[in-house]
Amino acid sequence: MYNSISISLGEMVLKGKNRGQFEKKLTNQINKVIKKKGLSLYRDRGKIFIDTENDIDELIKDIKNIFGIVYVTPCFKTGREFEEISQSVIRLMEWKRENGDIKTFKILSKRADKSYPFKSMDLNRDLGGVVLKHFGDLKVDVHNPDVTINVDLRSQCYLYTEKYKGTGGLPLGTNGEGLVLLSGGIDSPVAAYMMARRGVKLNCVTFHAYPFTSERANDKVRTLTERLAVFCGQINLYYVNMLDIYTEIRKHCPEDQTTIIARRFMMRIGEKIANDREFDFLITGESLGQVASQTAKSLGVIDSSVNLPILRPLIGMDKTEIIEISRNIGTYEDSILPYEDCCSVFSPKHPQTKPRKDRIELSEEKIDIWALIDDAINKMEIEKIQ
Ligand code: ATP
Ligand code: MG
Repeated sequence: MYNSISISLGEMVLKGKNRGQFEKKLTNQINKVIKKKGLSLYRDRGKIFIDTENDIDELIKDIKNIFGIVYVTPCFKTGREFEEISQSVIRLMEWKRENGDIKTFKILSKRADKSYPFKSMDLNRDLGGVVLKHFGDLKVDVHNPDVTINVDLRSQCYLYTEKYKGTGGLPLGTNGEGLVLLSGGIDSPVAAYMMARRGVKLNCVTFHAYPFTSERANDKVRTLTERLAVFCGQINLYYVNMLDIYTEIRKHCPEDQTTIIARRFMMRIGEKIANDREFDFLITGESLGQVASQTAKSLGVIDSSVNLPILRPLIGMDKTEIIEISRNIGTYEDSILPYEDCCSVFSPKHPQTKPRKDRIELSEEKIDIWALIDDAINKMEIEKIQ
């Protein structure tokens, strides 16, 4: 029945001068998906359309994942003459009735093209009349109809009855580039997704302590990155071995400071990777109060180790909310696999919850911080994840 889909852009429409750039990025991303299928897109007054009669469900599924899209709608495209619209409305209604029990309806017309000679109200009434005449048993119900036939008048006329929610957000690459500190846990993949949804291009760094942590821990992070790449395109994944760093920390610093000092190392390494590649910020899955290293005092001490902004999109969220998103984006099942990362292997029994910056810095003086960091970065491995 359907011969086109329409794509609504939502928030982007409001972005004034940036709009052109946003639309360009978004159409590039849509094109990447549809060119493989031999399809093309066109614009008609603020919406994007793709004409096709094949595999519409499949196409909608692929398009919905692109950030910046608010709705995707299967449409029946037809000419603008009243007679033609009437015939098409009848065909659409016949088809809907073959597929479901429909007793009541309403017509909802909108003119994106205001020069169209009929007013929306008149169209609603006249097309409603046509339907009533053709289907003797149907009734109009403007409040709670079994089906609403939307009539969208542009340079062509588009009829539709349902729309599917897109991911929303802003197109990828319209808001800088970030480096996600990606552990194998539940939180950081969700944090990555949330920033990507605001248009941030993603890169990821994961810290391991091979051979103390297993190869499977790295495989798990790779799989998580692959899941993210479904939404975020290609992602650079950096693997950094922290074993020497942990060894030095354990040799020279009080045990209860291990976690916080290690976290400051992660931030410094992240910052160095980011600065060398002109990324704009670091991203973590920290959420206030969740564990010892995420108390108010701890976060302050962590922040003071770097100058680059640290984005923490989960900071005010509850674990249950984070898990829900994790399930929705398809990372949950992998995140709960039981391979330990370096934090859990080296975590002290009683980590400090109220670390003091001066004391932490005093402990760090006993370690050759920058030699360790340079060494870790020199040995870093890089993988491009599609
Ligand atoms: P997650 O579920 O993301 O592992 P978490 O609740 O386990 O988070 P922490 O272990 O305190 O919390 O880690 C806080 C944040 O620090 C993580 O969300 C992540 O951004 C970063 N991080 C921790 N460990 C690693 C690691 N091994 N590699 C990369 N980043 C890490
Ligand atoms: Mg973790």
